[in-house]
Amino acid sequence: MDERTGKSILIAGAGPTGLVLALELARRGLRPRLVAKAGGPTPVNESRALGINARTLTLLESSGVSALILSKARRLTKFRISSAGKLLLTVDTEKFRGRYCPIHALPQGDTERLMIQRLSAFGIVPEWLTEVSTVSGDVRKPVATLVHQDGRRETVQPDLLIGADGAHSTVRKTCGFAFPGDAIESRFFLADYRYTQAIDTSFLEMNFLNPGVLGHLPVNEDTLRYISTIEDFETRIEHPATVRERIWSSEFHISFRHVETMSRGNVFLAGDAAHVHSPAGARGMNLGIEDACWLAWLVSEGREQDYSNLRMPAVKTVLKDTRRNTTFITLKNPFLTGLRSLFLPQLNHVPSFTAEVLRKVSGRDTPPPPWIPGAD
Ligand SMILES: Cc1cc2nc3c(=O)[nH]c(=O)nc-3n(C[C@H](O)[C@H](O)[C@H](O)COP(=O)(O)OP(=O)(O)OC[C@H]3O[C@@H](n4cnc5c(N)ncnc54)[C@H](O)[C@@H]3O)c2cc1C
Repeated sequence: MDERTGKSILIAGAGPTGLVLALELARRGLRPRLVAKAGGPTPVNESRALGINARTLTLLESSGVSALILSKARRLTKFRISSAGKLLLTVDTEKFRGRYCPIHALPQGDTERLMIQRLSAFGIVPEWLTEVSTVSGDVRKPVATLVHQDGRRETVQPDLLIGADGAHSTVRKTCGFAFPGDAIESRFFLADYRYTQAIDTSFLEMNFLNPGVLGHLPVNEDTLRYISTIEDFETRIEHPATVRERIWSSEFHISFRHVETMSRGNVFLAGDAAHVHSPAGARGMNLGIEDACWLAWLVSEGREQDYSNLRMPAVKTVLKDTRRNTTFITLKNPFLTGLRSLFLPQLNHVPSFTAEVLRKVSGRDTPPPPWIPGAD
């Protein structure tokens, strides 16, 4: 039971969304319980969500996480788009008017560890290897069954149950939330390469191979993440230095799905549990962090029932935009890819295009947080 609100809060999931939710509640004096099926944060060698946008930095300022992120992350000062090796378009992120660079890069495992560090200052430690195996009862009075590492089962009846338990969310499935949407045909492939020396980490590059795309962005001072729609993309990489090792690789199909409502009774969903989409635009983790911050604020105000209405428009905006970006980069038709190569260089001379790209990349295309004075 939380002394301030008189409510007990159970958060399922300690990825970026669950960690930020716990942190944002804790800094307002609330005491949630945070459980996770995983044994710990994302492994440090799995870079996963690399992009941290300016909106996230604004949101995480009060908890002290932003200062820690800024001490480790890399500013991405340029986005470059090329086709068959020829540079077509450059977007200069220094043109962004805002307190923070529109996007920084930091491996997800590092980001989560910084959140856990700040959370421990409030005396909250995630209970790892503790799974919500099912949720029963009325959504107004949910009953969660926890299974601990040693197989012990525990029944919990929180006043508020928050599912931040990722794309395959048990909370979402067992509480009757629909998750409509579809998958796209293209597969995406990833590989992180570490070099024997420091490399230029200031920019992100996307090279259209027509068909297919091969992009790269920095993971840290000597490591680049490559992302492609082509299975044998690694044979096409032009490495900037001698390779020390291939640290991590992954492949995935992309789905675009979101719940129709982010709450039912006293059960709430946030992050990937509520929405999944492609990594184009680096919005996944950032959108989940934003959900978490809004929900924590509303809970502290006793207004959690407003959460779904306030957040759904932002979720729809981001999914629509991410889908458009994904369609644009995965074009296969030779006529359309040819048009794209002709059209992109014209945008170098359109300041409003740069401003719009930076507005979206920085996360300023969703409503600003009302609890932070002057936030945009
Ligand atoms: C390869 C890859 C690259 C990506 N790149 C980017 C990027 O560049 N930028 C970006 O913004 N996003 C990116 N993403 C997406 C990003 O990783 C996710 O959006 C983000 O991790 C979602 O955070 P989350 O906390 O909502 O869920 P998750 O990170 O999935 O965390 C879920 C948590 O719930 C726990 N859990 C699961 N089931 C249960 C249960 N039954 N009971 C209790 N706990 C449970 C898990 O142990 C975990 O702690 C990428 C994802 C992948 C896979």
